[in-house]
Amino acid sequence: MELFEGINNKVHDETRQGEAFAPAVENDHVFSKHFYIESYGCAMNFADSEVVASILHSNGFGATKNMEEADLIFVNTCSIREKAEQTVRKRLTEFKRLKKNNPSLLVGVLGCMAERLKEKFLQEEKLVDIVIGPDAYRTLPQLIQEAETGQKAVNVLLSREETYADISPIRLNSNGVNAFVSIMRGCNNMCSFCVVPFTRGRERSRDAESIVAECRDLFEKGYKEVTLLGQNVDSYHFVDEHKNEVVTFAMLLENVALIDPSLRVRFSTSHPKDITDEVLYTIAKHENICNYIHLPVQSGSTRMLQLMNRTYTREWYLAKVNRIKEIIPDCGLSTDVITGFCTETEEDHQDTMSLMEYCKFDLAYMYFYSERPGTLAARRFEDDVPEQVKKRRLQEVIDLHRSHSFESMKRDVGKTFKVLVEGTSKKNDNELYGRNDQNKVVVFPKEQYKKGDYVNVTVHSCTTGTLLGKAIN
Ligand code: SAM
Ligand code: SF4
Repeated sequence: MELFEGINNKVHDETRQGEAFAPAVENDHVFSKHFYIESYGCAMNFADSEVVASILHSNGFGATKNMEEADLIFVNTCSIREKAEQTVRKRLTEFKRLKKNNPSLLVGVLGCMAERLKEKFLQEEKLVDIVIGPDAYRTLPQLIQEAETGQKAVNVLLSREETYADISPIRLNSNGVNAFVSIMRGCNNMCSFCVVPFTRGRERSRDAESIVAECRDLFEKGYKEVTLLGQNVDSYHFVDEHKNEVVTFAMLLENVALIDPSLRVRFSTSHPKDITDEVLYTIAKHENICNYIHLPVQSGSTRMLQLMNRTYTREWYLAKVNRIKEIIPDCGLSTDVITGFCTETEEDHQDTMSLMEYCKFDLAYMYFYSERPGTLAARRFEDDVPEQVKKRRLQEVIDLHRSHSFESMKRDVGKTFKVLVEGTSKKNDNELYGRNDQNKVVVFPKEQYKKGDYVNVTVHSCTTGTLLGKAIN
């Protein structure tokens, strides 16, 4: 079920929400104090928690998965929909008991919700000691010191420059095979429904060399796949003053792909207005850049797209999809859809359904519209589609998508894919799971293979979400 951004570790993994983090191996003797961190929301937040862990490690705090032994509890929050915020508030109430048992325990709120609510958070949630926005993580050690004296500590300053380029993230809960690498921060797009430009600030691109160096380092440590992350990766633009050149996303993608042919490269998210032929040709040129594009459409109605300020039409989107299929014929395609945005009519909804019928997405993340305070839509338009209508349309979109994704899975039966093994199947110890180029999950008998191997697997059957197969030599 992909009611929320879901499986396949793309943008936001519902199964990882609230995951407690700790590095795989830790020298416990070094640290006298411990922090416990939970992350919610998109992959950017999970990647940010790894930057936070690195900053805390350098300041004498070790990570723990056991909140009972923590001196600091951090929650890295998401504001994208109201439900995401409610989840965090509910979670905070569960920390009350811990604080009662250990009055010196500090609770910090990080990320988008901290940025959106600022000092208000401290008034509304009395147990919170630290509120820190996504661009202020370098000041965490000072804020902790301040909070240790009994004061409340807040830093929600947004920056035009901060990219944490020089901070080497500490990989948390990693399987040692795939890692997220942030290539930019913020967003300048101002989609009218979206809170991200307000919580993550202006768009800025990270130093290209530091990105390539981080990916190379991961590869040298045994990682086999990197996912380059940004809200709008196609507008990546870095001016390299030493080389006197501008690095575009296509160039960056190529530079990462050239690290080694056995390092797989993925990226997310592409905006339909910005993805270029140059990027598509770069994907087609390099075998290790995965043939998979996440291209959120949001709606199939041009009128809705205009109100959403997406700056493209239905026709533009369809032309992009055609172009992708022309240049990369076997490209996997996924999308995001919002139902029940302000003034959406049955006809607009049918436009979304017919667009989905045309595109037949392999994967879709579908939501009903949730008004977010402060956004352009909240200020300009009335949230006038009744909730049951939003939900009914969402269900129709989900049902249609399910039939498409199942068709897409069935088309793969009989084909052979190169699968990067990510681990042992949760259901059966004798089976491994991994993903193919198109980001589909493939399960097959373990035999002599192990995590991190590339294995050619022939698919013999499928479920709605998984391809089942057998390795061939
Ligand atoms: N930057 C990416 C893009 O442009 O698609 C992703 C941004 S957002 C973290 C992920 C998805 O959340 C969006 O594509 C959109 O479908 C959904 N979303 C954002 N704001 C929403 C809202 N107010 N209500 C419902 N869904 C929303
Ligand atoms: Fe939000 Fe639009 Fe930016 Fe995506 S591109 S983060 S939906 S404003």
